[in-house]
Amino acid sequence: METEVIIIGAGVAGLAAAKELTKRGISYIVVEASHRIGGRGYTEKIGPNAWLDLGCAYMVYGPNAQTDREESNPFIQYARNQKFEIEKYDYDGHFVYNGKQISVAEDKQREAFYKDCSDAIRNIALNSPDQPISDIIDLDSPYAVPYMDMMAVTAPADLDEASAQDFHNKVDEHEDYVSRRGYGYIIAHWGSEIPVSLNTKVECVNWSGPGVTVETPKGTIKAQKLITTVSNGILAGQHIEFKPKLPDWKMEAIQGMPMGAENKIGVHFTKDVFGVDDCGYYQTWSDDAQGAYVSANLMASNVVSVFMGGRFSKWMEKQGQDTCHAFAVDRIADIFGNDIRKAVGRSIVTAWVTDPWTLGSYAFALPGHYRKRKMLPLPIDEKLFFAGEATAKCNGTVHGAYWSGVRAAKEVKEALMYKIERKSA
Ligand SMILES: Cc1cc2nc3c(=O)[nH]c(=O)nc-3n(C[C@H](O)[C@H](O)[C@H](O)COP(=O)(O)OP(=O)(O)OC[C@H]3O[C@@H](n4cnc5c(N)ncnc54)[C@H](O)[C@@H]3O)c2cc1C
Repeated sequence: METEVIIIGAGVAGLAAAKELTKRGISYIVVEASHRIGGRGYTEKIGPNAWLDLGCAYMVYGPNAQTDREESNPFIQYARNQKFEIEKYDYDGHFVYNGKQISVAEDKQREAFYKDCSDAIRNIALNSPDQPISDIIDLDSPYAVPYMDMMAVTAPADLDEASAQDFHNKVDEHEDYVSRRGYGYIIAHWGSEIPVSLNTKVECVNWSGPGVTVETPKGTIKAQKLITTVSNGILAGQHIEFKPKLPDWKMEAIQGMPMGAENKIGVHFTKDVFGVDDCGYYQTWSDDAQGAYVSANLMASNVVSVFMGGRFSKWMEKQGQDTCHAFAVDRIADIFGNDIRKAVGRSIVTAWVTDPWTLGSYAFALPGHYRKRKMLPLPIDEKLFFAGEATAKCNGTVHGAYWSGVRAAKEVKEALMYKIERKSA
């Protein structure tokens, strides 16, 4: 089989690259290892009229979205155009310690502590060499535990592993939207027109000759250019063999930005047990159990998501579904009381670290390695082009992945044009 461009991966980045190449009249083949498109965007039904996003759930965009395209999120407009029900995320935060909501005065102290932590991160980023975030926050604060629980989910790593500078460089979330039918569903709907060869794992990329040859269990594909959108986990683990190997500068950048762990346990409730004021996000922690970051009953869905991050999340993946389900129900009962257990329905537990096609949730920088992020999107030899969330300005997000795919497709177009110009010169 021959084409101009091979795209590895039919997540958001690969699908966005394919759409951009279609617009520019360039032929391509998208090869996807899994049985479905969407990658880390994936929604499953969890109950009647209730869905759970196993990966991305919040449709976010950055504060400069009006002027900087890379901070904008085309999926919000797409969802509106398709009449998918979406809602601005405008819920309150609640903080529960030892099974009791903290007082207003305590919440002020907590808020001040969280702000001190953000200021410390900013200060290091602007004025000092990079450090692990855990080195610059006051670990003796009574609010250090919930702060670290929350950050392990968003970083997504324990704070002794996470670069303060890289975290500071993350583009702020300006506004969030949630969707009833699921972000993953919207992504799959948007990408459904793209032809994709599913169940087609790329095993080897040979870029030694004039073009690129890709080996898959379904046969060999030849092309002039290749866009890879697979995660840093797949590249770092050399799950695709590159011949010759990727250069050291690229591998060092990939290894400096490993995959973090964010997982969630979605629990459906069989009755309307939540009041209107119960909707929103919670943090629960106690003296004798692991705490959790929880989002409850968004869009009156009767679904609660219990988030886990970092090493705890990796450990829980190994414990399996039953342990995760029990942990989630215990944390939800810490917040809403034991009676809620009577209405517990089915749950869905994610396992992104052991997912063979991602090997983690999204990439984060190890302390001292943040500068290497700039190397991730750089092409090699005008033949290998790199997209995917880790390569994006808004890394770790769907819209970041989208714009990285568009960027890589434009780079390919330019490289193809340059080749034609060189031939005719
Ligand atoms: C738990 C979790 C929560 C998140 N929450 C949010 C959120 O609320 N908002 C947000 O914006 N973002 C969120 N994200 C991040 C967001 O989901 C990702 O940044 C984005 O989906 C990544 O898209 P991608 O195209 O870069 O990668 P992927 O979606 O991983 O696509 C890469 C594709 O490559 C395929 N592949 C891998 N190996 C091979 C191979 N050898 N051959 C062929 N194909 C291969 C994979 O199967 C996959 O489909 C979350 C992620 C997780 C895991």
